[in-house]
Amino acid sequence: MGIGGLLRKLLPFVLPYRWLLLATLLLTFAGSLMAQVNAVVLDRTVDAINNLLHQDHFEWASAARLLLIVSAILLGKELLAALLTFGQRIFGEKIRIHVSRDLSLRVVSRILQFRMAFFSADGNEPGKLQTRIDRGVMSLSNTVKNFFIDILPLFTSAVMALVLMFIANVYVGLVALAVIPVYFLITARQGVRMKGWRRRVFGTHQALNHGIMNIIESINVIKSFNREQVEADKQTKLQDDSTVQQMQTRRISFLFEGLKTFVEQIGTVLIIILTAYLVLIDYPGMSIGKIMYHVLLFSNVSAPIRQLHRIYDDLNDALIYAESFFGILENESDVEVSGDYKPSHVSGDFQLRNVEFTYSNGTHAIRDLTMHIEPGKTTALVGLSGAGKSTIVNLLDKFYSPDSGTIALDGKPLNEWDTEYLRENVGLVLQKNHIFSGTIEENIRYGCPSASAEQVRQAARQAYIYDQIMQLPDGFDSQALQLSGGQQQRIAIARMFLKNPPIIFLDEPTASLDAIATEQIKASIDAIKQGRTVIVISHNIGQIIDSDYLYVLDTGHVVQHGTPDEVYRQGGLYKDIFDASARSMNADKIAETMA
Ligand code: ADP
Repeated sequence: MGIGGLLRKLLPFVLPYRWLLLATLLLTFAGSLMAQVNAVVLDRTVDAINNLLHQDHFEWASAARLLLIVSAILLGKELLAALLTFGQRIFGEKIRIHVSRDLSLRVVSRILQFRMAFFSADGNEPGKLQTRIDRGVMSLSNTVKNFFIDILPLFTSAVMALVLMFIANVYVGLVALAVIPVYFLITARQGVRMKGWRRRVFGTHQALNHGIMNIIESINVIKSFNREQVEADKQTKLQDDSTVQQMQTRRISFLFEGLKTFVEQIGTVLIIILTAYLVLIDYPGMSIGKIMYHVLLFSNVSAPIRQLHRIYDDLNDALIYAESFFGILENESDVEVSGDYKPSHVSGDFQLRNVEFTYSNGTHAIRDLTMHIEPGKTTALVGLSGAGKSTIVNLLDKFYSPDSGTIALDGKPLNEWDTEYLRENVGLVLQKNHIFSGTIEENIRYGCPSASAEQVRQAARQAYIYDQIMQLPDGFDSQALQLSGGQQQRIAIARMFLKNPPIIFLDEPTASLDAIATEQIKASIDAIKQGRTVIVISHNIGQIIDSDYLYVLDTGHVVQHGTPDEVYRQGGLYKDIFDASARSMNADKIAETMA
């Protein structure tokens, strides 16, 4: 993407503020006019003083009047210029802030539309995605700011000053013009020299941040292995690199800045010499006042060029980040597609035939899978870790679509279903990660935003969590994240009661919970199972043997199915898992103890 492409893509975001833009431009133009006033006033003042000195009778009264007028004009101009600059900056900033808001909103609403495959794709991990978005929004809105607040006024003022110089004297104008390409040349060289270093500084900075975060997160491991010194040494190395890199960028930067100031001074000296020479040879239209006039105008010409380097850097950043940012905004292929089938009744009869599915990283998770989930029954998916159980749930909830084969719900292919409607009819309880920061009440109400307070409480009762919530000092207004794992899980189940879907997927709902919490959740689950189609994934044999039917999976393929008793009698993988589970629980000893 080039600068033209970048500006074209930004244009739709700036256009809604066209009136603000017009006002900014007008103020900019007026401000640029003001910037030239000093030169004109000084030109006239010097000539007027010169005349006064050469009069036969010097009059203090005339001199005082002259100084009064000059002071009034200059102070009045400063006041006006201050107001104009304020207005121009406020308007420019308003455009930047609004564009930044619009860019953020657009990208968030876009991301919410994406299918799950987008989030599991390489490079879209939460941290990386967030960095891409943050940097994109920041550098794009900076481009807007650079353009409207920084460059435009300076360049308008420079062009005006140059035009005034040309009008006053073509030769002086030409000298001023000749210095500009030299500036551009120096800035371009500076850009090239700095580029590699800037990138290195950026990389080291990220590594430093990441390193400190790593230390904090793993402090118990570091301490238990006595690796404090190792970690400190790693940081020392990074800090050393960072120091060298920062010094190097500063050195290059100061060198080039010095060079530019020097060239600017050469320009000023050339202009003084030329104008002085023209005055001395009595060139028409040239007077002593014009020496000051041109010197002051020339400083207006060179002012924006001094800023070129920073703007060049910012623009380069914007070009890098804009590409991946607009990549997200313009990504159509990852937007979820939806059918429009919305029957009045959903029973939950899933039919999967010869389904194949591969994740974007190449993992072939489901192979030639055929299964039938009967409505109103509880079906368990059993298998070792990585067998593809969660992937099946992802496919049934349309988070991913199969590569081939068919999945039908109540006789209709899943892709013909309205996705939103389908998910309204499916409740999902996962192992963890589904409690938001907020109160318990808000978390339960997420299942049905229009529910009354009484309905929320009823759902909590059904999930066997009501009494425990009421014992908290703030009751339903307590923070949900403060609850224990088992309590949070029951909040999620209460939310499911409130949503009241006919189909429920439970993916390891009791993994990593203690025995008491597991038992309490089992009670909640038994309650919610009534009259619904339930798919349960669990390593807990106690939950599996309660199912009406079960499928045993191995590397994405069904290897056994039937009622729990039937499958156990068949032997094979299920029996292995079952027996191992009983042995690991030390079932014989338990039975002995309890006898
Ligand atoms: P299970 O639920 O039986 O433990 P999963 O369905 O989670 O198994 O995983 C099946 C296979 O797919 C595993 O090899 C796993 O590494 C892989 N997998 C799961 N989720 C993703 C993902 N988002 N991206 C890539 N591979 C995945």
